[in-house]
Amino acid sequence: MTTLKHWITPTIVRHGGAGLNKFGGVRQSLYLDAIDGVPVSQLIERFGSPLFVMSEARLRETARRMRRAFTSRYPKVRFGWSYKTNYLNAVCGLLHQEGFEAEVVSGFEYEKARMLGVPGHRIIFNGPLKTREDLERAVSERAQIHIDHLDELYLLEAVVRDAGLRDFPVAIRLNFDTGYSEPWSRFGFNLETGQAMDAARRIANSPWLQLVGLHNHIGTYITDPRAYSAQVRIMAGFVTAVEAATGCTIRFLDTGGGFASRNSLQGVYLPPEQVVPSIEQYADALCNTLHECFRDREAQGKPLPELILESGRAVVDESAWLLSSVVANKRLADGRRGLVVDAGVNVLFTAFWYNHDVRLTKPAEGLPEETVIYGPMCMNIDVLRQSLKLPPLSPGEVLAFWPVGAYNNTQWMQFIAYRPAVVMVRENGSVDVLRRREKLQDMTDLESLPDGLQPDFRD
Ligand SMILES: *Cc1c(COP(=O)(O)O)cnc(C)c1O
Repeated sequence: MTTLKHWITPTIVRHGGAGLNKFGGVRQSLYLDAIDGVPVSQLIERFGSPLFVMSEARLRETARRMRRAFTSRYPKVRFGWSYKTNYLNAVCGLLHQEGFEAEVVSGFEYEKARMLGVPGHRIIFNGPLKTREDLERAVSERAQIHIDHLDELYLLEAVVRDAGLRDFPVAIRLNFDTGYSEPWSRFGFNLETGQAMDAARRIANSPWLQLVGLHNHIGTYITDPRAYSAQVRIMAGFVTAVEAATGCTIRFLDTGGGFASRNSLQGVYLPPEQVVPSIEQYADALCNTLHECFRDREAQGKPLPELILESGRAVVDESAWLLSSVVANKRLADGRRGLVVDAGVNVLFTAFWYNHDVRLTKPAEGLPEETVIYGPMCMNIDVLRQSLKLPPLSPGEVLAFWPVGAYNNTQWMQFIAYRPAVVMVRENGSVDVLRRREKLQDMTDLESLPDGLQPDFRD
């Protein structure tokens, strides 16, 4: 009997020292066998695979660095935690401990913040959909509402009037072109066309509302700090214009989020160490421009506006890893190697846009080869990585994807498989579950099976 052997593409690998490449960066294929001192093998054994692992130490460190960067450069800063980036209770709880308020974009997120004990006046309420009930609650709890469009403005006026209140302090969201990134004109009032000024005048003429703040969120993963200088300059110009035109006093400027994390956006050739500015560089751009624009205001004895930040990904992304185990190896028709792992885009949603750093979790044996990493879904789009050099890996070996703390634990979807657990390595070295792995009942609890629709296999 003959046994057929698999054909393996021959590969030629150039021997090179770990020298500089032409962009000056050294790409090392290090492996990651422990997270904050806890062995990866132990984490998988205890909590299963795939698994999200967060680091308490890293999250606190990043949050503190963010606060320090801004409070040391500007006298009045408030920090909002962007719930949609990661609203696990433990993440929000930790960031609230670190002095972040809640920045929410829906009634659901608002309720979650209140459930966690955030008082209404420490909630920044953004987003294009706020129902009458949402606004009634937000008004009665004195939340900071940022109006997105005229219909919301009218509804809010009615809610304030019906609550028997007057001069309820509000902000409007602005959109404009900074010249550095694609403007997001679908949110808020456009500045260049005069919509924003119209909204401000409307508010000035309303007995129910009072304009006290301006909000803008340029976009996300903004890698040029000059975009924030431009943003502040444009907003400061509008402060002068709107105060002169309506007699209002702007007390705060909320510049939104968008600072990049050390992740590689697909299509960007340089590594994140070279493209992503430090938090301090963003802080320089924002705070220097604020000082420059409001110097005269200070000289006139008017208070400096408060700066509000709503950074999401830059705060949380780097504090989480996704561990995923190899299921199978495949040889694709074009000769490339395919690797199937047990986490797909259903769990790692950000794989659609980012090339995460993928690490082995033990030393490599064998020659690296061009590999496609597939998830376990029955969908052709379930690709975690189109192309990466990896040594041969056997089923059961674990890969670590990083950074994955932003937008995955909120945008993941329940499709085909159970969503995995999220655990946190605490500063004291213990490991706590932040969200357990899903089970069948979690899904079926939401369903009902009406009479006459039960299956019937009596044959
Ligand atoms: C999503 C969002 C943020 C956070 O954005 P990042 O890019 O993650 O920093 C902040 N503010 C608003 C209004 C948002 O919608």
